[in-house]
Amino acid sequence: MTINRRSFIKLLGASAGVGLAGAPMISVAADIMPKKGRRVVVVGGGFGGTIAAKYIRMSDPTIEVVLISENKDFVSCPFSNLVIGGFRDLKDNMITYEKLAANHGIQMVYAHAESVDVGAKKVVTSAGAIAYDRLILSPGIDFRFDEIEGYDAKTTPEVIAHGWKAGPQTLLLRKQIESMKDGGTILMTVPPTPYRCPPGPYERISMFAHYIKANKPKSKIIVWDANEDITSKPGLFRKGWAKHYGYDAKDSSKGLIEYHNNSKIVKVDVKGMTIDNGVEAVKGDVINIIPPQKAGAIAFHSGVVGEDKKWCPVDQITFESKLVPGIHVIGDACIATPMPKSGYAANSQAKVCALNVVQLMNGKAPIPPSHVNVCYSYITDKEAVTVSAVYKEKDGKTIAIPGSGGVSPDLSELEARYGMGWIKNILTEMSS
Ligand SMILES: Cc1cc2nc3c(=O)[nH]c(=O)nc-3n(C[C@H](O)[C@H](O)[C@H](O)COP(=O)(O)OP(=O)(O)OC[C@H]3O[C@@H](n4cnc5c(N)ncnc54)[C@H](O)[C@@H]3O)c2cc1C
Repeated sequence: MTINRRSFIKLLGASAGVGLAGAPMISVAADIMPKKGRRVVVVGGGFGGTIAAKYIRMSDPTIEVVLISENKDFVSCPFSNLVIGGFRDLKDNMITYEKLAANHGIQMVYAHAESVDVGAKKVVTSAGAIAYDRLILSPGIDFRFDEIEGYDAKTTPEVIAHGWKAGPQTLLLRKQIESMKDGGTILMTVPPTPYRCPPGPYERISMFAHYIKANKPKSKIIVWDANEDITSKPGLFRKGWAKHYGYDAKDSSKGLIEYHNNSKIVKVDVKGMTIDNGVEAVKGDVINIIPPQKAGAIAFHSGVVGEDKKWCPVDQITFESKLVPGIHVIGDACIATPMPKSGYAANSQAKVCALNVVQLMNGKAPIPPSHVNVCYSYITDKEAVTVSAVYKEKDGKTIAIPGSGGVSPDLSELEARYGMGWIKNILTEMSS
């Protein structure tokens, strides 16, 4: 069963066209977008890129902004787990860019950014080269598929979905659990940190459990987590799983969720539907591998990825690359620890980065940041839990302000309702 991007768009009945890698959406010949004045180019129309583009135009309308997006629409990962749980439509996670562009005078280029000519200060795209004075990259993540033996980047996700870039993969997972027999086994693997959305895998587990409790109660979810423990809100997730899904930390054979820590997938047999952690191999009816991650490819093709060969070191005030001057990196691709790789963090970093890019372009001193993050995780369709923090820069590092946040005191119906407001607000902010 496969759902590619074309059938996905059909499935959604969306009218938006496809702008896949390598297929220019508008006809821009090489080098023919001459700069009229000062220009910032932004790569990536997701949580970070849309906001960076918008806030530069809002802060200084004399600066020209070009936003490069490889698709004409964007599908939000936040709240995509709820689609798998069966109580949200993926259409509600989608935005397009027309209003954003019109409201703020942002020039959209629907193309794949292939590389950056750092010397000439040009982004080379599938639609042509685009010159910049400053460049902001917010490309999100790519996967380290090569760390799992037997994983073929092209074919494996058609059978074994990751669902870590929302869209066809999300719908595939939902279809697979719908097709699974009662008494089936869902296998799920959690990658080592850092990865996109620390609580995301545990929300995904909850959503699988929510579905099978109501529809296939003889089934089971076996989780292999490469980390020492649940990496976000461990107490609240365990409490929620015990309350709703019969989870028992002392006897994992009870209940719907069997959770194993320190268990890292090393091999997959796609035909045999088994995964292997070097100690044992287990067979599943549905397998959801969330592969280990790294910055999106354009970061590698711009020279901004650090020595770890995964993520991009940046100045914590301006988000300017520590390796290539004039290029800023925000969102999942950058290193801003202890901020999580979240949509809310990308939004916050985008505002700080935009403001400071404007400061720098106007010969002014950068302004120290204040960031905020809240992550909502649904345990059921009615109850959610949250983690939040406020961050600032201190001595060149980002720190969480002591006492500024924490986790919600309990499972909460109110948090679940606030969450619905959060996603509506943030997607509206990105698209208008
Ligand atoms: C299941 C799941 C649940 C999540 N839940 C939450 C949540 O509840 N709250 C939260 O805050 N975060 C959540 N997240 C995390 C959130 O999705 C990411 O942290 C966020 O998307 C990062 O923003 P970004 O701008 O770095 O990347 P993205 O939002 O992924 O945007 C990157 C964009 O750049 C485009 N792009 C990449 N390369 C190129 C290129 N070369 N040329 C042109 N375009 C390019 C991509 O197509 C994409 O549109 C969740 C993630 C997952 C997987």
